[in-house]
Amino acid sequence: MAEPLGSSANPLRVAIIGSGPSGFYAAAHLQSQDDLTVEIDMFDRLPTPYGLVRGGVAPDHQKIKSVTKAYDRIAAHPDFRFYGNVSFGKDMSHAEFLNYYHAIIYAVGAQTDRHMGIPGENLPGSHPATEFVAWYNAHPDFADHKFDLTQENVAVIGLGNVAMDVIRILARTPDELTETDIADYALDQLKHSSVKSIYVLGRRGPAQSAFTNPEIKELGELDDASVIVAQNEVILDPVSRQYIDSGVDRVASKNVEILKGFAAQGDTGKPRKIIMRFCVSPVEIIGTDKVEAIKLVKNELVPNDKGDLKPKPTDEFETIPVGLVFRSVGYKGQAVPDVPFDDKSGTIPNHLGRVLTAPKTGEQVIGEYAVGWIKRGPSGIIGTNKPDSVETVNSLLDDLRAGKLLAPATPDRDKMEALLNERGIQYVTFEDWHYLDTVEQERGEFRSAPRLKFSRVDEMLKAIKERKSATQEMQAAAAATPPPLPAD
Ligand code: NAP
Repeated sequence: MAEPLGSSANPLRVAIIGSGPSGFYAAAHLQSQDDLTVEIDMFDRLPTPYGLVRGGVAPDHQKIKSVTKAYDRIAAHPDFRFYGNVSFGKDMSHAEFLNYYHAIIYAVGAQTDRHMGIPGENLPGSHPATEFVAWYNAHPDFADHKFDLTQENVAVIGLGNVAMDVIRILARTPDELTETDIADYALDQLKHSSVKSIYVLGRRGPAQSAFTNPEIKELGELDDASVIVAQNEVILDPVSRQYIDSGVDRVASKNVEILKGFAAQGDTGKPRKIIMRFCVSPVEIIGTDKVEAIKLVKNELVPNDKGDLKPKPTDEFETIPVGLVFRSVGYKGQAVPDVPFDDKSGTIPNHLGRVLTAPKTGEQVIGEYAVGWIKRGPSGIIGTNKPDSVETVNSLLDDLRAGKLLAPATPDRDKMEALLNERGIQYVTFEDWHYLDTVEQERGEFRSAPRLKFSRVDEMLKAIKERKSATQEMQAAAAATPPPLPAD
């Protein structure tokens, strides 16, 4: 009789697609099951792990990035392997994955941006903020993007934490940026930036801002930028007033307090200006062959049937001349090849993390699970992913006990690796990544930065290859050297 699945003689084999926080928290919860032997293979299309902790978290927020130490401990487990530089659905198909694993967990995040659907949105000079973020964070897909930083007036649309990140990076001085792990090319270009005025455009009021308290407070602490909020923009409508006074939402109350503080303080005279505007929606990005201005409509806030305040356009318009626009209106998930997808929400349809064939009413897709932003949409902070991944892994464990996982034909790591090798895919192990990590940290020393990131896949793969052949040569030389003669 076959040994039970999950025993040491018959390990449970799980593929995790994506190596950001949600993937690592899923791995951690699997590893924490005392009575389970589980082989976890984590795949990433990039050679580097950590998802948005590397490619999203702002370079001037290094403390947040220290969470990767916990991920390294998870990766150090003897039954854990990392396969970087392997694209799900391209290097290995969905059907092939089903061949090697009892379960697959999709942890692919939200890889694109939401669209606004206004004229001029795609004019040169109008960019998704997510692309700027990826660019300054040395994401290889975005390293060659161009942002016209010769412009003096910039608009940032949206009041979320990504907008706050983008504003800080645009407003910080070279000195403030030098000691971060910002991409070297981004630092060079930002050093010569002409940006003077950053218009931050919120479609609702101060009480509905999506940013959190430390992020808005930090804008007031920049060396060379003043935050400008007009007194009349922080006067709350009666419904918002009542909401804030009720004290139910402490984050919103503190946000309003900080914004009122900026309004009371006025312009502090620093050379760059961050001008915060509320209750305005962009209706058009204007320009003939590039962005020249942004047209806004003034909104009033009206409650919807759930009592939430929503923006309603008035007939009052204004136009602000800007040469560069960052649309920071949220990330959006992308379909994973051969996996069900709900285009409306940009997520994989699921119930408690179990993939369904269709949202809500669909049937369970056996052995397939989702965690993180591709499961619930792009919301929350890094820590939000912990309970989210635990929920999914608990569903998987229930299914294991109920005998409802996949029955792969080849549950064998060596054979899976042999397939990758046969296809000439230079997969990157966690040990390889540790090497890249060390090189990046050494390269960062000259500018007192935590690291200087690689931003090109071919450079990363070349560095790993060279190190491997150097190690082999050293080993061969050591083997060829005759042992020293014994002393008389
Ligand atoms: P977000 O928090 O959802 O904010 C999106 C913003 O865009 C909101 O202000 C939203 O306004 C606005 N918006 C949406 N559609 C719009 C439209 N058509 N016109 C004008 N404005 C529009 O998204 P995010 O900033 O991309 O952040 C994603 C997640 O990552 C969030 O949970 C965030 O907290 C997290 N994050 C955290 C940190 C950190 O902890 N430091 C840093 C970065 C990101 P409405 O409210 O009116 O919809």
